[in-house]
Amino acid sequence: MNSSAPAPAPTKTGDFIRDIINDDLEAKRHDKVLTRFPPEPNGFLHIGHAKSICLNFGLALEYKEKLSDSNARCHLRFDDTDPTKEDTIFEDGIQEDVKWLGFNWDGLYHASDYFGKMYEYAEHLIEAGKAYVCSLTDAEIKEYRGNVTTPGKNSPHRERSVEENLDLFRRMRKGEFKDGEHVVRAKIDMANPNMKMRDPLLYRIRHTAHHMTGNEWCIYPMYDYAHPISDAIEGITHSICTLEFENNRELYDWAIDNLMEYAKFPSRPRQYEFARLNLNYTVMSKRRLQELVEGKHVSGWDDPRLPTIAGLRRRGYTPESIRAFCTTVGVAKANSTVDMAQLEFCIRDDLNQKAPRVLAVLKPLKMVIENYPDNDVEELDASYWPHDVPKEGSRKVPFCKEIFIEQDDFMLEPPKDFYRLGPGKEVRLRYSYCVTCTDVVKDADGNVTEIRCTYDPETLGQNPVGRKVKGTIHWVSARHAVDAEVRLYERLLSEEAPPTGKDSEFLNAINPEALQVVKGCKIERSLKESKPGERFQFERQGFFVVDSKDSKPDALVFNRIVTLKDSYARAQKK
Ligand code: ATP
Ligand code: MG
Repeated sequence: MNSSAPAPAPTKTGDFIRDIINDDLEAKRHDKVLTRFPPEPNGFLHIGHAKSICLNFGLALEYKEKLSDSNARCHLRFDDTDPTKEDTIFEDGIQEDVKWLGFNWDGLYHASDYFGKMYEYAEHLIEAGKAYVCSLTDAEIKEYRGNVTTPGKNSPHRERSVEENLDLFRRMRKGEFKDGEHVVRAKIDMANPNMKMRDPLLYRIRHTAHHMTGNEWCIYPMYDYAHPISDAIEGITHSICTLEFENNRELYDWAIDNLMEYAKFPSRPRQYEFARLNLNYTVMSKRRLQELVEGKHVSGWDDPRLPTIAGLRRRGYTPESIRAFCTTVGVAKANSTVDMAQLEFCIRDDLNQKAPRVLAVLKPLKMVIENYPDNDVEELDASYWPHDVPKEGSRKVPFCKEIFIEQDDFMLEPPKDFYRLGPGKEVRLRYSYCVTCTDVVKDADGNVTEIRCTYDPETLGQNPVGRKVKGTIHWVSARHAVDAEVRLYERLLSEEAPPTGKDSEFLNAINPEALQVVKGCKIERSLKESKPGERFQFERQGFFVVDSKDSKPDALVFNRIVTLKDSYARAQKK
C-alpha cells in the first residue's frame, strides 16, 4: 500500500452541519465537537463511505484548530451488533482504508464494548415499565405493527409484569431460549404515525459467536438501541448519518431521553442526517457489491472496477483525489446522483501534477526507418513534465531504426482531418524527428503488419523548413522496449442507473468492456524498474498505475486509472 499524506483540515465549506455545530458552540450547548464514523464490519468501504469519513474526520480536524486537540475528536466505532454477518477481516480492511484516505481516529471503539452497559440499561427500562419481553413470532410482530395507513395492535405480552419481564430477560441472556422465541421491545405506541416508534425491538436472541465477545452473549442489541447508547457513552455531540435514518431519529431521542438520568451520559448527542452519495454507472450498496464479489463477476473486493476504497486504490486513485471529490460533492440534505465524470475529473486533476509522462504503445505496429543507420542509437532527451507543470526532470529515450507506434495512429485511407500517419503522410515522433510513410507491408489477409518510413535529419527539435507537420505521435524503440500487460478499465456499468429492486437484474447492466486486457504492449525502457503503485501518464493514452497485486518485475502489469480526453475519438463519435 502506498503511504498517504495525512489529510489537512478541510478548507471551510459552509454547510448545514457546520452551521449547527457553530450555533451549538456559540450557544454553549456544547464546548466540544465529538463525531464518529460507525461502519458495520460486514463488508468493505466504498466511495459513499468516503463521503461520511471526510465529513466526520474532517470536522474533527477542522475544530481541533478552533477548539483544541482533545475537544474535537472523531472516533472510529465498529457497529458490530449482528454477529451473523460481521468479521475481523472487514475490520482490518476498514481501518486500512480510513488510514489510506489520510485520517486517524481519536479512539477505536466497538458497539460490543458496551454490551454490558446496554444490558444493564435494558433492565432499567424494563424496571421503569418502558420495555417488555414479547413472545410473538417475527411474522406476528410484523402483522401487529400495521402499516402507514393502519395503526398497529398491542402485543398480547405488552402488559406482562415487571417481575415476569425481568425474569424472562435474564433467562434470555442465560441462553434458556432458542433464537426467535422472545424479543425485548420498547413500550412506546403501537399507533404512532412513525412506524419506528411502534414498540421497536431492542434485543433479540442469536446463538451465534461474536468476533469480539465470543460466546459471552446469546442476546444482541438492535442497531436503533445500540447506536444512541454508544454515542452517548462516548460523549459524541453530533451523530451524523445518512437520510434514510431520518425516521430513526425519534427513537434515537427516546433512548437517550429515557436513559439520560439513570446512565449519566457525558453528553446529550443529537442525530443529524445528510444526503448519501450516489454515483451513476456503478453500484454502491454492500449487498450488491457482495453479490458481484461472491458471484465472481469481479476478481474480489479490490477489483479496480468497483467503487470500493480498496478497488479505487488498486485502480490507482489517490487519497487526495477522493478527498477533493468529497469536498466538491459537499454536504446537503437533498438526495442526488453525482456524475462519475466528476470523480474522474478529480483524479485527472490530481495526477496531472503528479504523474510523470512517459511513452507506451498499447497495440504496437512496427515502423522501419529506411534511411536511418542500421546500428545507430540516439539517446534523446524527454521531459517528464509539460511546461505548465512546475516540475523538473527528464530521462533519455533511445531512438533507432526500428520502432513501434500505435496501430490506431496509422490509417491506410485516412480522412482529411486525421493528423497522424498514412501513406505519403508526415508526422512528428514525440521528442524525435519527423517521419514520412513511404510504404506498407501487408499479410496475406491484407492487414498492415509493418510500415516503412524515411526520417528528416533536420527536424530534431525544430520544424521542417517549408512544410507544416500537424500531428505528433508516441513511439518506443523496438530494441529497447519492455513488454507489459495493460488492463484497460472502464466504468462498471454500461447504464447510467442500474435497475433497482432486490433482484439481481443489475448484473445485466455490467459493462462487458469494463475490463479489456491487452498483452504484448511495448513500454519505454525507463519503466522497466517501476514499482507497484507507481503512477504515470502514458502520453495520449491516460493515467496508469503499476498493479499492486499482479505486477512482477519481469512481467509488469499496468492498470488504466482514467483516460485523457481524446479529441479525435470524441469528434468521431459526434
Ligand atoms: P450500504 O448501505 O452501502 O450497504 P451501510 O450504510 O450499510 O452501507 P455502514 O457500515 O452502516 O454501511 O455505514 C457506515 C456509515 O457510512 C454510516 O454512517 C452510513 O450512513 C455511511 N454511509 C454509507 N453509505 C453512504 C453513502 N453512500 N454516502 C454517505 N455516507 C454513507
Ligand atoms: Mg448501515
